[in-house]
Amino acid sequence: MPLRGGGKRAFSAVQTTDSGLYDSFAQKKMGRGLTSCYDGHVHTRASDGWLSPDRLAFHAYSHEMRIVVCDHYTLQGAIEARAELSKLNETFGMRTGAEIICGIEFSVDTGREIRPLRKMHLLGVGIDPGSRPLARWLGSFKRSREGDIDHALKVKSEMEDMGFIFDASTGKRLFVFRNVYRALIRSIDWDINCRQIKRHLGISVYERRGRSRSKRKRRLTTMLVTALRKRFGDFKSSKPCLAEAVEMIRRARGATVMPHPLTTHRGLARVCDRDALRFLQRIASYGIDAVEAFHPAHAIERADRLSKLALRADLAATAGSDAHTGPQMIGRFMRGAPPAAKPIQGKLQGLLFRQGQNLPSHGLIPLPTLCTAPKSHF
Ligand SMILES: [Zn+2]
Ligand SMILES: [Zn+2]
Repeated sequence: MPLRGGGKRAFSAVQTTDSGLYDSFAQKKMGRGLTSCYDGHVHTRASDGWLSPDRLAFHAYSHEMRIVVCDHYTLQGAIEARAELSKLNETFGMRTGAEIICGIEFSVDTGREIRPLRKMHLLGVGIDPGSRPLARWLGSFKRSREGDIDHALKVKSEMEDMGFIFDASTGKRLFVFRNVYRALIRSIDWDINCRQIKRHLGISVYERRGRSRSKRKRRLTTMLVTALRKRFGDFKSSKPCLAEAVEMIRRARGATVMPHPLTTHRGLARVCDRDALRFLQRIASYGIDAVEAFHPAHAIERADRLSKLALRADLAATAGSDAHTGPQMIGRFMRGAPPAAKPIQGKLQGLLFRQGQNLPSHGLIPLPTLCTAPKSHF
């Protein structure tokens, strides 16, 4: 099959025309960074994103982008965005480059199997939104989450009786954070509540002053979560295990992607190629199809290395912005300014989505050479 595209492109899309030919990989310029017409990982307001599904659909329509909506534990944002995009297509005429693909993001427990990881995130991409087994499974998580939130609200009112003061966004945080105790702690001002923290939870806010503020904050959060657990009991919902999540995504005809691997497993950037490869092969043996090599948290050289190693481990490499905020983040995968033109990967693979079908069919396909654009472009 002849490949079109290639040349001086941003990390770009994985898209085909109806006849199965690769479409030209449009490169878009937004702000100072490179962006792509494809984004494999975006959040909406249905979970913890800022953008409404309607606004996201409008962005996809107006910029002719293919966007995978991967909200945490829900398909609602993706379903609404798809419906809105069809409306836009009907009203203003079909934009063939625009597509919203159904995805989902889970936090999963890996147990002791994939050392040193104990937990990681997992994306399901190209999910069938009508999948009944997945809907039932998500329903059970929703119910146990609701139990957690009820429990957290009781804890909050008890804490208020003790004199703790919470900010106005507590309710919103409780619905977004998986760990409701963490949500509560984010919602109290430590400086205002330090007397209550010491008195009721037995922890001094100003302990270990020598550390940097961010380290102190992290450590204090962990200590407070443990103290709340001890005092008010554990909450009920648990994370799915990796094998179960992979199985559910497969049953919903989705592909599985390990997102932002360098943030989940920070050591991966430092280990030698042989060890990194071994880790990725392990990931592949759990039924994972791809790793999100390109992500704003990954430095470009690391993303490049990761994509090459992923291919050797029989995994595809994908790109996602993990955008939680405004539309300016969509389609951006690079941290910092783009380096001078440099080939990224001769045989980068991606997830293939066929345009114009109700459900995207996916498979792993070779892509043409991708390059970062030369600086002179911008
Ligand atoms: Zn994530
Ligand atoms: Zn995400």
